[in-house]
Amino acid sequence: VTVAASYRGRFAPSPTGPLHFGSLVAALASFLDARRHGGIWLVRLEDLDTDRNQPGAEDAILRCLEGFGLHWDEPLVRQSERQELYDAALQQLRQAGLAYPCGCSRKSLAQAEEGMGGPRYPGTCRNGLPAGAIVRSFRFKSSEMEITFKDRYQGEFRQNVGLEVGDFVIKRADGPFAYQLAVVVDDAAQGITDVVRGADLLDSTPRQILLQQALNLPTPRYLHVPVATNAQGEKLSKQTRAPAVQPNPQTLKEALQYLGYTLPQDLGNDLNQIMNYALQAAE
Ligand SMILES: [Zn+2]
Repeated sequence: VTVAASYRGRFAPSPTGPLHFGSLVAALASFLDARRHGGIWLVRLEDLDTDRNQPGAEDAILRCLEGFGLHWDEPLVRQSERQELYDAALQQLRQAGLAYPCGCSRKSLAQAEEGMGGPRYPGTCRNGLPAGAIVRSFRFKSSEMEITFKDRYQGEFRQNVGLEVGDFVIKRADGPFAYQLAVVVDDAAQGITDVVRGADLLDSTPRQILLQQALNLPTPRYLHVPVATNAQGEKLSKQTRAPAVQPNPQTLKEALQYLGYTLPQDLGNDLNQIMNYALQAAE
């Protein structure tokens, strides 16, 4: 293992519900990777979508992380307190001609997409708002250049964002900044060198790389861990009613085994001891 001089990683949960097994796996993977590299590990709350935030969820997540021994090294960051940073990024993109106002309603887009056979924005407002349209969102002008990156777990990943996704929303006019923009701004502002997260976000990484390039920000290394699923093969999430996890030795063992750790039979049932074993095994 090469030790990065300045490894900085993070776990970025949304306070839309308590931690479930899938989010525990992602947190653990990121924490162990940071520790294994002698690095700093941060927690950032992705709480921009205030309609979906659940009262008490932030506290529940943080208490659960601490209960498992996942201690963060610097003060918590909340995206809801960082609007001016995202605003500055949007201004920078608009001034560079890389973001534009879009007047399309979700309904009109759904009709347009039906005709095109895919969830790709047809570029209706790229060269100016249609007459009489009101601004509903701001979109990033995606380039039709293939983005390639080497994921530390998944290997090489390629996507042509311009052709496959089209120009994507970075802010709703009357709502929050989109995840794609906020995450890019925050990863750079916090000096994140290594993003370790669930593979459900693999597909949005090329969009984030495009934004990093447009904003002259560095691209971190990425590692996307397989997403935990339930017996029906669905991703564990609030939508699939994944049960909340509580700090206990058995759950920690299951999460480590999910990540590929082989645990000795005589490891015992002390949470700290299990975590110490994982930290040493990772070295
Ligand atoms: Zn539009």
